[in-house]
Amino acid sequence: MRPFSYARAADLAQAVRLGEHTGQGQTDAPAQFLAGGTTLYDLMKLDVMMPGRLVDLTSLRATHGTVTATTAGLRLGALARMAHVAAHPAVRSEYPVVAQSLQLAASAQLRNMATLGGNVLQRTRCTYFRDPSWTECNKRTPGSGCAALNGFNRNHAVLGTDASCIAQYPGDFAVALMALEAEIDLIGPHGSRRLPFASLHRAAEGQPHLETTLRPGEVITAFFIPATAWAHRSVYVKVRDRASYEFAIASAAVALELDGDVVRQARIGLGGMAYRPWRAQVAEAVLTGKPLTEASAKAAGRAAMEGAVGHGHNDYKLELGRQTVVRALMEAKAMPTPSRKV
Ligand SMILES: Cc1cc2nc3c(=O)[nH]c(=O)nc-3n(C[C@H](O)[C@H](O)[C@H](O)COP(=O)(O)OP(=O)(O)OC[C@H]3O[C@@H](n4cnc5c(N)ncnc54)[C@H](O)[C@@H]3O)c2cc1C
Ligand code: SF4
Repeated sequence: MRPFSYARAADLAQAVRLGEHTGQGQTDAPAQFLAGGTTLYDLMKLDVMMPGRLVDLTSLRATHGTVTATTAGLRLGALARMAHVAAHPAVRSEYPVVAQSLQLAASAQLRNMATLGGNVLQRTRCTYFRDPSWTECNKRTPGSGCAALNGFNRNHAVLGTDASCIAQYPGDFAVALMALEAEIDLIGPHGSRRLPFASLHRAAEGQPHLETTLRPGEVITAFFIPATAWAHRSVYVKVRDRASYEFAIASAAVALELDGDVVRQARIGLGGMAYRPWRAQVAEAVLTGKPLTEASAKAAGRAAMEGAVGHGHNDYKLELGRQTVVRALMEAKAMPTPSRKV
């Protein structure tokens, strides 16, 4: 671990000022915001991230850690803790996929500490990335190569990869955000902006060290999930090597609006298999306007994994991904009909 300076921001304006040299998604950014610290401290101890300055956001929790549900949608403060949001009655009843994605993540201790903003910005669990004794890692050291391509890649991605990086995006909450077409609110040195959540994480495109579209100094202040007719009937299915305290090897966030058995609208997010939080729009189109049956769910599963490429040890994810989509669709169909329609 290297020496670093520490500053606690009293308010958002000060956080932005102090954080002008942050560059989330860049290992070598000279400053980093500190929220729960549950992943940043790990990476600093491993010498993977070496910020010279930490800007502590925890004083902002009272103002930017709240949950507000209105007829327009759900607003989640970025400093809200995972456990708090997972247990919130409105989130559990009206946006179940969000509550489930948080509840199935990490451990109780981590969920009590970790925030939503930090969760979506967590880095890959690729072992070559997290161990600097491996010199080949384009994400950690641009231009150095990718040790995982010909190494042990059982947990790596099969969707959205390129020759520069096959790392898997590890988070769960982001997958639910993709399915529910969430937006994020940001504030930075040049003012505030709102972005579709889907545009936060960049494709690898030969530059895997650049992970997000955040600008230096930008703080995520909130997530907004619009109230839709499909948010109520939504589930998160997470497949992992053990039943708790483990990252996904495949996951699917599914939200459905049904008219009887017929799919009016479908939204599908995928996790554990893709380079970044993934939306399976081709699979959604396969389902729309047709009765949801085992056969149509299988067709959607196949469409969701179209273009997926295995790298050897992770070839099993192609079939696992299809099956995970089928299971999530059938679980969503079996949910009781929501009492409130948007
Ligand atoms: C053993 C273990 C198992 C885990 N299992 C899972 C799992 O199954 N599923 C899952 O989803 N996650 C899992 N996690 C990851 C865990 O959920 C994250 O560590 C946590 O959510 C990060 O949140 P934090 O508030 O602690 O972030 P921090 O560590 O404080 O920050 C992470 C990054 O986000 C940046 N940041 C934080 N907040 C903001 C903000 N508001 N604006 C801009 N930048 C910000 C920081 O600068 C930093 O770069 C696991 C972690 C561990 C250690
Ligand atoms: S998969 Fe990505 S993170 Fe892992 S070694 Fe290759 S370049 Fe690095």
